[in-house]
Amino acid sequence: MRPLIAGNWKMHGTLREAVKLAEALREGAEGVDLLVCPPFPHIHAVAVSLLGSRVAVGAQDCHAAQRGAHTGDVSAAMLRDAGATHVILGHSERRMDHGENDAAVLAKTEAALGAGLVPIVCVGETEAERLAGLADSVVEKQLAGSVPYGFVTAGGIIAYEPVWAIGTGRTPGEQEIAAIHATLRRALVERFGPSARSTRLLYGGSVKPGNAAAILALPDVDGALVGGASLVAADFLAIARAVPG
Ligand code: PEP
Repeated sequence: MRPLIAGNWKMHGTLREAVKLAEALREGAEGVDLLVCPPFPHIHAVAVSLLGSRVAVGAQDCHAAQRGAHTGDVSAAMLRDAGATHVILGHSERRMDHGENDAAVLAKTEAALGAGLVPIVCVGETEAERLAGLADSVVEKQLAGSVPYGFVTAGGIIAYEPVWAIGTGRTPGEQEIAAIHATLRRALVERFGPSARSTRLLYGGSVKPGNAAAILALPDVDGALVGGASLVAADFLAIARAVPG
């Protein structure tokens, strides 16, 4: 399957900076799909600036409801209308900052699918959970609780993001990443059948140009979700070009 390199821009940048960054990515990278996920107010302008390119645009969250009295929230259909095709859901920063549990992520994922967006559901253990030997069981539980029926056929994507590796410059060992991805693949295939072999499993957590080639060459790693390094066009493109040919 074609690897996907997705950038999570989090709460960074002015509108002008977002459009400039998008324009620097327009050329894309050979053999790889690119996705950028700007903050809500920048999505439409970034989508317009990337029209005709092979770089897709996503959001970082959506509400579970289609409409209603939800001050400050954004529906999946609004994101679609603004030009997004994907949405990151259940990122650990949302799970921590906004108390999102698996049930909330499940409801948002259903809403995303209903609006025709491709959900990228994030799972990952904390450092304490890893040290306690619970990494596999934590991600399996998150997967079971956050991923709805219809996810695989709609092209839903899973991102394994160990919480302790996000923004820290630390990553699990290559064998540890491969082991969790194998666990996720097995759990998806058990639940959804052989078609889940083509579900993209992204790794996220301190992916940089210097470690991307080794991580992206691992079995069952079908791309990366990149935070900090996605804010620098040259770094993001270097990560995309590190995908094994
Ligand atoms: C992220 O927040 O999804 C992420 C992977 O961040 P970073 O690459 O900065 O660790």
